[in-house]
Parts: sequence; C-alpha cells; structure tokens
Amino acid sequence: MRGAVMFRPGDVRVVERDEPRLIRPTDAIIRLSASCICGSDLWPYRGAETLDWPAPMGHEYVGIVEEVGEEVAAIQPGQFVVGSFFASDNTCEICRAGYQSSCIQRAPVGAEGAQADVLRVPLADGTLVATPDRPPDDLIPSLLAASDVLGTAWFGAVAAEVGAGKTVVIVGDGAVGLLAVLAARHFAAERIIVMSRHETRQRLAAEYGATDIVEERGDDGVRRIKELTDGLGAHSVIEAVGTQESMMQAIRSTRPGGHVGYVGVAHDVELAGDELFFSHVHLHGGPAPVRRFLPELVDLIWNRLIDPGKVFDLELPLDEAPAGYDAMDRRRAIKVLLHP
Ligand SMILES: [Zn+2]
Repeated sequence: MRGAVMFRPGDVRVVERDEPRLIRPTDAIIRLSASCICGSDLWPYRGAETLDWPAPMGHEYVGIVEEVGEEVAAIQPGQFVVGSFFASDNTCEICRAGYQSSCIQRAPVGAEGAQADVLRVPLADGTLVATPDRPPDDLIPSLLAASDVLGTAWFGAVAAEVGAGKTVVIVGDGAVGLLAVLAARHFAAERIIVMSRHETRQRLAAEYGATDIVEERGDDGVRRIKELTDGLGAHSVIEAVGTQESMMQAIRSTRPGGHVGYVGVAHDVELAGDELFFSHVHLHGGPAPVRRFLPELVDLIWNRLIDPGKVFDLELPLDEAPAGYDAMDRRRAIKVLLHP
C-alpha cells in the first residue's frame, strides 16, 4: 500500500509500505476514505521537532472497517468509523473521567501513519465511533475534521469554559482556531474575537460566527483585547498555536477569574510563576480527549447542524501529499485533505 513518510525536515514522500495487519485481538484494520495534514505535522517538517526518521505520517482518519480482532465486539467490518490520534480503551478510570487522551493504555495512532491507504487502529472498541450509516461524500470532510481539529477546538472551548453571554478570544487562525469559533458559537458565546492577520482566514472566521477580528499580536494584541473588553480582558481564551508568544498573549488577554483553554501543542513555552500567581487566571488544556466529544460531534455533523469541513481548502490525491505539506507550510492552504 501507499503511505506518506517524512524522511527528514522538509522531505515527505509517498512510498510503498507494508500493509498493516492485526497484531492484537483488540485491533481493527480500516481502509481510509480520507486523511489529512495537521498543523502539528509542520513542527517536524520545519525542523522544530525531531521524529524517529523515517516516520510514517498522519493521525487523522475516517474509513471503512475491513477486519477486526477477535476481542473486538462493538466495531464491525463494513462500518464507517471516525477515530482520533490517541487510541484509548474508554473503560479505565481516566477515560471514564473524560480524559481518553491520557488513557492508561493509550497508543499513538500517528505512529501507524494515517496518510495511507490502510491503517491499523489499536483498542478499536474504545477508540472508534461508527456513523449511523455510510455517509454521503459531502459529509466526509466534516467527519474527518471531527477526528482531530474539531475535537481539539471543542476541548479548547470546554477547557476555557466558553458559555452563554461570555466574551471569547481565540489566539490562532489555523484550522483549530477557526473551528474554535464554530465551537464558541455552538456554546452560545456573545462575543467571539479572533486574532488573525490573514484575510481568507478572517473570512471563514466570520462565516463561523466571529464578531471581531484583531490583527495585532503580542503586547499590542493584548492592548487591543483590553480596549474591546472595558479594560478587563475576555472571560474565555482559547490558545491554538503553542508558542511562547501565543501562550502569553492568551494569558494576558484573560480577565482575573477567567479561563484559558490551551490546545496548541506547546513548544518551549515557559511560564513565570509570579505572573501566573497574580493573574488569577485558570489554565487547562493539553492533548484533546477528542474521544469524549466524538459521539456528539458525529451526531451534529450527521444532522448537518455544523459544517467543520470548510476548513479543508485544498484536496489532493494521496500521491500529492508532498505538495500538500508545502502548501500548508507556506500558508497557501489552511488544511489539506488527502484522498487515498
Ligand atoms: Zn482508558
């Protein structure tokens, strides 16, 4: 089968790989209907993170189950399924508390490489959520978005305690930031301020329900947020980048007693304890427990109540994955969908 492999920063190739087979009795093998490139795949692509080269790529996936191990009971061959980047048993104490991405048995699906024709998913019963039926083609991008970016944005909104009547700030205008607008709207936020300086992304943010755009960054951005919130800062801030600058921008844009939901993968972020102490801000985040939200998200998408698939502004055949990485790296595309 074919699969995208990163050989070193900047060098992604679609190569022939061994087709995965069942290893454990709890595994499933799925034939992928679609996969995509994640903003977090850009960290190693840009050399900001080292992988075990050569590394199979991709951790977002939807597809049709081909085969299941003998201990798999809920998931059956022929079903269309959505999964997320960490496999989880969904039965341990941590999972039952809603933190499936820290499951005591968690396994990174990305290590298997979902930018491919076929994928092995560990802990299939706990990890995969089946749709009511085979979806029509036009729903596939939205279901694929639920696999990571939408679920991550949802967790950001929940962690930031977004709710009715609140002012929400979103730091980051990648796919997660844009879907955080959709989530904030769903949770009935009154005002949704997006920090973005890219016109095409601002347009999609507005379509999803953003009420204000702030183009300034860093201290200037914080000053602008304060101006828009009577000098107080926002009730809820969703951080969807993962840099020192974006994290400080998020914390400093939050009012005392407010909440930051941070879901951008942190890279070399250091927080000063004394500033945190006096900020009176709640911090919660980390790798999103997407599995917690998947049944609800699949339901919302299936009933066409939300349309997160709009973040895919470039669709390519799997063979052209290298061009997809290049487009995302140069910010010519928000998010790239790959057709096996
Ligand atoms: Zn668990």
